[in-house]
Order: sequence, then C-alpha cells, then structure tokens
Amino acid sequence: MAENDRLLNYIGGKWRPSAATDSLEVVNPATAEVLGRVPLSPPAEVDEAAHAAAVAFPAWRRTPATERIQYLFKLKGLLEEHFEDLSRTITRECGKTLDEARGEMRRSIENVEVACGIPTLMQGYNSEDIASGIDEFMIRQPIGVAAVIAPFNFPAMIPFWFMPYALACGNTYIVKPSERVPLTMQRVFQLLDRVGFPLGVVNLVNGARAAADAILDHPTVQAISFVGSTAVAKHVYARAAANGKRVQCGGGAKNPIIVLPDADLPVTTRITADSAFGCAGQRCLAASLAVTVGEATGPFTEAIVEMAATRVVGYGLEDGVQMGPVISPESKRRVEQLIGQGAGEGAKVVVDGRAARIRGYEQGHFVRPTVLLGLPPDSEVARTEIFGPVLGLMHADTIDRAIELVNSARYGNMACVFTQSGTAARRFRYETEVGNVGINVGIAAPMAFFPFSGWKESFFGDLHGQGLDAVEFFTQKKVVVERWPTEWSRKF
Ligand code: NAD
Repeated sequence: MAENDRLLNYIGGKWRPSAATDSLEVVNPATAEVLGRVPLSPPAEVDEAAHAAAVAFPAWRRTPATERIQYLFKLKGLLEEHFEDLSRTITRECGKTLDEARGEMRRSIENVEVACGIPTLMQGYNSEDIASGIDEFMIRQPIGVAAVIAPFNFPAMIPFWFMPYALACGNTYIVKPSERVPLTMQRVFQLLDRVGFPLGVVNLVNGARAAADAILDHPTVQAISFVGSTAVAKHVYARAAANGKRVQCGGGAKNPIIVLPDADLPVTTRITADSAFGCAGQRCLAASLAVTVGEATGPFTEAIVEMAATRVVGYGLEDGVQMGPVISPESKRRVEQLIGQGAGEGAKVVVDGRAARIRGYEQGHFVRPTVLLGLPPDSEVARTEIFGPVLGLMHADTIDRAIELVNSARYGNMACVFTQSGTAARRFRYETEVGNVGINVGIAAPMAFFPFSGWKESFFGDLHGQGLDAVEFFTQKKVVVERWPTEWSRKF
C-alpha cells in the first residue's frame, strides 16, 4: 500500500498519501536494502486523523461491547492467516530473527485475544441500598480519542499492548509507528481495513517528532500511550500532562541479572545469553549487566564468554541465525563507542563485537555479542542503556551487595535472579526496586493478561499497557447514586 514506495496514512477509513515534503528511507538493517520511504506527516494530518476519530467516536461507543469484539475476533483471524508474512516484515525492517519476530507476533495476537474479554473486563460494580432505597453504581465509559507513539524495537507488539483494549473499550484510535519501522503497521492496517471497522475508528499517521508533538498537543486526543527512550518519555509525559491528557510512558532500561553460587550453570548461561544477545540486545527487557555472587564468578564468566563468542550472527531470515543487526549505522556507532568507553572506564573487553563483518551482508549494521568483564559499578557505561548486544559483568561478594547494585540504578524495568534457593529468590523478589522480576527466567516479559510494568526512570505514569491496566487506562469511571422512591413508581 504505497505510492512511489512512499507509505500511506490511513485516515477515516481511507488510504491517503501524505502531503509531507520530508520523508525518510526505511532500510533493512541487515542488507541495507531500501524497503520504502516514510513520510514525515505534518501536524495537519494528525489533525485530520483526530477529527476522523472524533467523528467516529459517538457511534462506536454506542456499539455494544459484544459487537465491538466481533471486529477483534476477525482481526485475530486475519493476523493468524498473515502470521508468517507479518513476521517476515518485522525481520526485514527491524533486523530481529524470524523466530523472534514470530514471538512478537504471538504476543501481539495474545493482546487481541485478551481484549476480546472486554464485555466482562470492563464491567463496573454496584451496591444496593447504600442508604434505604438508594443504589450506587460504578460504570466504565470510554474516554474518546486515544493514540500510541511507538518505538522501533517491537513494530507490532507495542501498538498491540494498547490498541485492542482502546478499541474494545469503545475508544477510537490513532497509531503513530516509529519512523524507522513503519512497514509492519502498514501491513497491520491493511488487515484492519479488511476487518471493516467503521470509518475513523482506527487511523494511522506516519511521521516522527512533529507528528508526535501534534498528537501531544491536539485538544481532541484524550489519552496517550508512549514507549521509547527515557529522555523522550519524560518529554511526552510532561507535555501531554500539561495539556491535561491521560498519559502512560514506558522508558529505557538497564537490566541486571544476578547469578548466585547455587544457580544451575548451563541453564543460567543459556538463558542469560538469550536475554543479553537476543534481538541484538534491543529489547527493553534485555539483560545488560550480570552480577555474579561469590564463587559463581569464575565458571559463569567462562561459560558466558563461550556463548557470546559462538553466537551465530547474520540475516534474521536465514536458518540457524541466532542474532541479527542493530537498527541503524548510528546505533552501531553508538554501541561501539560505548564498548570503547567501557574499556576506558576499566572493563576488559573479553569478547569484542566491534567491526563485525558478516559475509554476504557487508553493508549490514552488525555488532557481534560483546562481554565487558569487571565493569566498575560506578562507571558511566554500567549506568547507561546501550541497546546493543553488550553484557557487562560485575562481581559481588554477597547477595546484599548484589541487591544494592540492582537498586542503585536509575532504571527499574527488570531484574532477574538465578538460584536454587527459594529463600534467596523470595528476598530478591521482595526487595528489588523494579517492575518485572525473573526468577530463573531471563526475559520476564508479562503475558498479555498481566500489566507490562516498569519502575523509576523506566516508566512514567501509573497504569501500564496490557490486561486490566489497559482496561483501566482506556476507560473513565462514572459513579451513579440512584434513588427511585416507591411512591414515585406507584404513580405510573
Ligand atoms: P525513541 O524515544 O527514539 O522514539 C520513540 C517514539 O518517539 C518514536 O515514535 C519517535 O518518532 C518519537 N520521538 C522521538 N523523539 C521525539 C521527540 N523529541 N518528541 C516527540 N516524539 C519523539 O525510542 P526508540 O529508539 O524508537 O526505542 C528504543 C527505546 O525504547 C529504548 O530506550 C528502549 O528501552 C525503549 N523501550 C522501552 C520499553 C518499555 O516497556 N519500557 C519497551 C520497548 C522499548
């Protein structure tokens, strides 16, 4: 659905070319092939989408929830039917392996499935006779027009943390995908178009900062979900709140895993490698620090170095590839610079992924898995989100010190512990200041029926994406106190 390879917006149920004068190339990060051009839509096109969504809202909110979810059931069917080609689109524009892309699609569909429970999930509650003959109800109603501003690393899943719930609850919606990976949403909107939602219920506006800011400032948009880097999350949170909007913002991360001496070493190492190097480290739940406690240090270091050095790096559509490229040449340069900085701050680069050349993909933006041994806890690199396949190793003498290290971070997205001790695991779960905890799990990614949490500088707001939090976010509560004296009834 492109005109001269330029992607289209989808506004008011129609595919529309953007009037934008500026556009960016969408590039396959493994092959450097140009896959299309994304227009940087001007604020006027956000305005058109907001208008279309506002016009569609009154009829959509009056559509019974049981009918609204029929559209989602149909969407689920189409997503299943196109599962493989959507997964391949994700790999082509984002770089992750096909299996990782399939995992992303599975979680996207799971969110549609959970949102199909909305007739139950959005029920309110009531109390009869709060005083004699007086009843009180809490009713949930949709808030109106809502929007998502999404990051590059999960082109499908992150919009799906929000969109199905927004629609199921009776809101109308605008998606602004990341300008770096807009093709997946272009494909998803072709399916949304086939579903036949009433015109204006779902809208797509491609663009970058100007389009995002137009969403933040638009008086019609009532609620905004953002996921991206912490700096932008803070900007979005402040600006949307200043404009009186409901807002939830996921930010960056620097996730530690703790390895206790009694951990099952082969399992721990395999899981840690998958977490640190999966999606080329471009997951907000990627482990980027491993803190080994006591005598775990020697054997764990040896094993993880071996795993990092032997990981198969290449084009994610090829069989056997375990890790793809990072998203862009800028990202590759930044990751490599941070590896150098880590060395400058005292770490030893025991596996060095810089200057990677992948045969057949010499133009790709590859960084191989990298391990920084003895990264000082107070170094800049130990506290900075790298967003690449780089694992920093640290040692702690005790679990107390390891927990202290976890809690000294500015981020609080995820922390994991590997141990066979229930007592140690419980303590870790209880004391760590993070939103997602893994116990012998390296990517503690919540299922669609749990909130995707995040604390500290990893999240701004209170209600998260997915599950019941999303239902809360996309509805407003109305409380009704009702009296029908029997003598009034007798008159009729
Ligand atoms: P990003 O912050 O650069 O961009 C995210 C979105 O914001 C994009 O749609 C972009 O167009 C828009 N944007 C960028 N700059 C803007 C500005 N100044 N004003 C308004 N809008 C702006 O993030 P990214 O590089 O696409 O994604 C990677 C980041 O996302 C990482 O930091 C990662 O940790 C984070 N992330 C967090 C979670 C989470 O759940 N906490 C999940 C996935 C990714």
